[in-house]
Amino acid sequence: MNESSARRIDGRALAEQVRAEVAQEVLKLKQHGITPGLTVVIVGDDPASHIYVRNKAIACEKAGMNSQVIRLQADISQETLMEHIQALNDDPAVNGILVQLPLPQHLDSQAVIAAIDPNKDVDGFHVLNAGQLMVGAPLYKPCTPYGIMRMLEHEQVQLWGAEAVVVGASNIVGKPIAMLLLAAGATITICNSKTRDLAAHTRRADILVSAVGRPNMISGDMIKPGAVVIDVGINRLADGRLVGDVNYAEAEKVAAAITPVPGGVGPMTIAMLLVNTLEATQRQHSLHNA
Ligand code: NDP
Repeated sequence: MNESSARRIDGRALAEQVRAEVAQEVLKLKQHGITPGLTVVIVGDDPASHIYVRNKAIACEKAGMNSQVIRLQADISQETLMEHIQALNDDPAVNGILVQLPLPQHLDSQAVIAAIDPNKDVDGFHVLNAGQLMVGAPLYKPCTPYGIMRMLEHEQVQLWGAEAVVVGASNIVGKPIAMLLLAAGATITICNSKTRDLAAHTRRADILVSAVGRPNMISGDMIKPGAVVIDVGINRLADGRLVGDVNYAEAEKVAAAITPVPGGVGPMTIAMLLVNTLEATQRQHSLHNA
């Protein structure tokens, strides 16, 4: 038997394809005199956050969209930040608003996200959008879970009736991916830091999603032979290497397919932000697939 048999799910290639599709739709919108616009708000000077924001802006511009980055001082007051959000809500040239998280400690992130017009909430983090997802009628799906679903669809993974185990229960990844998998017909288990016997759950998974942020926490013996493994984790090791939550070398001997880190879920997250911004623009102009 070939020892390293898992198919490598190429998130970069699929993200390129999605971005090209978005660029085509943007061209069509431009024929109607409409250019989608995304505004990213970033508070403070965290270098990693600035890199993420730059990458988002570049991706927007490459797809033919307008991008604007509003950089605010780390000591900004909640009130002033809310005024910025309100101005963006009122600006018709702004179709999507994204507040880069985490915000400095003194700011109330939940209140800031709740202040974004839900129709412009392209991250899908507003409670109204979280609720829409919960009731099975999502308006905007959070970008990372949306990207995972797109990868599973592209890989033609059977979700109906499948056992899906999600490790991690955050509002931005774990919970929404579980809701999307449930809506697609999977039977879901969500694990968190209190889960007693994690391996007992992961070993049952036809589809295993790990979104924790701990290198090597999913070893090969925790994976069911033939499973599809989606590694959301992004961890920087002491030697500078970037790895996921899954021990890739072990997992690829057991799984049927697996996403690498880097080059898996990460590129899809940005691609789906473009999709959400496009959908926001179409919705705000009452157009669909213009
Ligand atoms: P959070 O820190 O918000 O959530 C982590 C989750 O993991 C929590 O639900 C926590 O449980 C759970 N957890 C912690 N330890 C264990 C354990 N030993 N066993 C089982 N569950 C555990 O993280 P995020 O969801 O924001 O991000 C998770 C990872 O994904 C990070 O590495 C992040 O960098 C990455 N990420 C990658 C993205 C991409 O585009 N590729 C996008 C977003 C995030 P509890 O609820 O009990 O605390």
